[in-house]
Amino acid sequence: MLDQGRAEEFYESMRAAMLTELKTPLELRDVEVPLPGPGEVLIRVEACGVCRTDLHIVDGELPAVQLPLIPGHQIVGRIIELGSGVTEFVIGQRVGVPWLGFTCQSCRFCKSGLENLCDRAEFTGYTRQGGFAEFVAANARYVFPLSAEKTAVELAPLLCAGLIGYRAFTKTQNAERIGIFRVLALQPI
Ligand SMILES: [Zn+2]
Ligand SMILES: [Zn+2]
Repeated sequence: MLDQGRAEEFYESMRAAMLTELKTPLELRDVEVPLPGPGEVLIRVEACGVCRTDLHIVDGELPAVQLPLIPGHQIVGRIIELGSGVTEFVIGQRVGVPWLGFTCQSCRFCKSGLENLCDRAEFTGYTRQGGFAEFVAANARYVFPLSAEKTAVELAPLLCAGLIGYRAFTKTQNAERIGIFRVLALQPI
């Protein structure tokens, strides 16, 4: 944990692609680097994928968007600071941040393993600031340790499309063939 304050220049401000008005292009702005709160980690972003949900947010198709907003929820980066109480990660560790950024852990959905339906859930790049920036603060409970072997660009789509596909796959049990629809590859194949 860094407790000497933020003398380093890179801590003072960061570039972020922000949504300042619905249905308009993101603006590149200099904003303050977020402070990791209790239970959070600060991550230096290496790559952040673009999801169809980001476009829905930009187009005003999801309710109650608080502007200005940094979208992006397929984040790969390295931890550079630990908030108080975080013991499961270390500085420098490669991690990923998905769409689901917080749940209450006490409602009936959370208690029955359906935390994705939590009424008090927070979502990265929607109700929490996201990853189209140099740094992002994320709740450590919703941060995944990732391999240092793959590139950040290879790993980023796993944080949303990959998670959804994997979750569906685990629910198929003994199915011999499964089909996953509407997963798009944006890289040339
Ligand atoms: Zn997504
Ligand atoms: Zn809940």
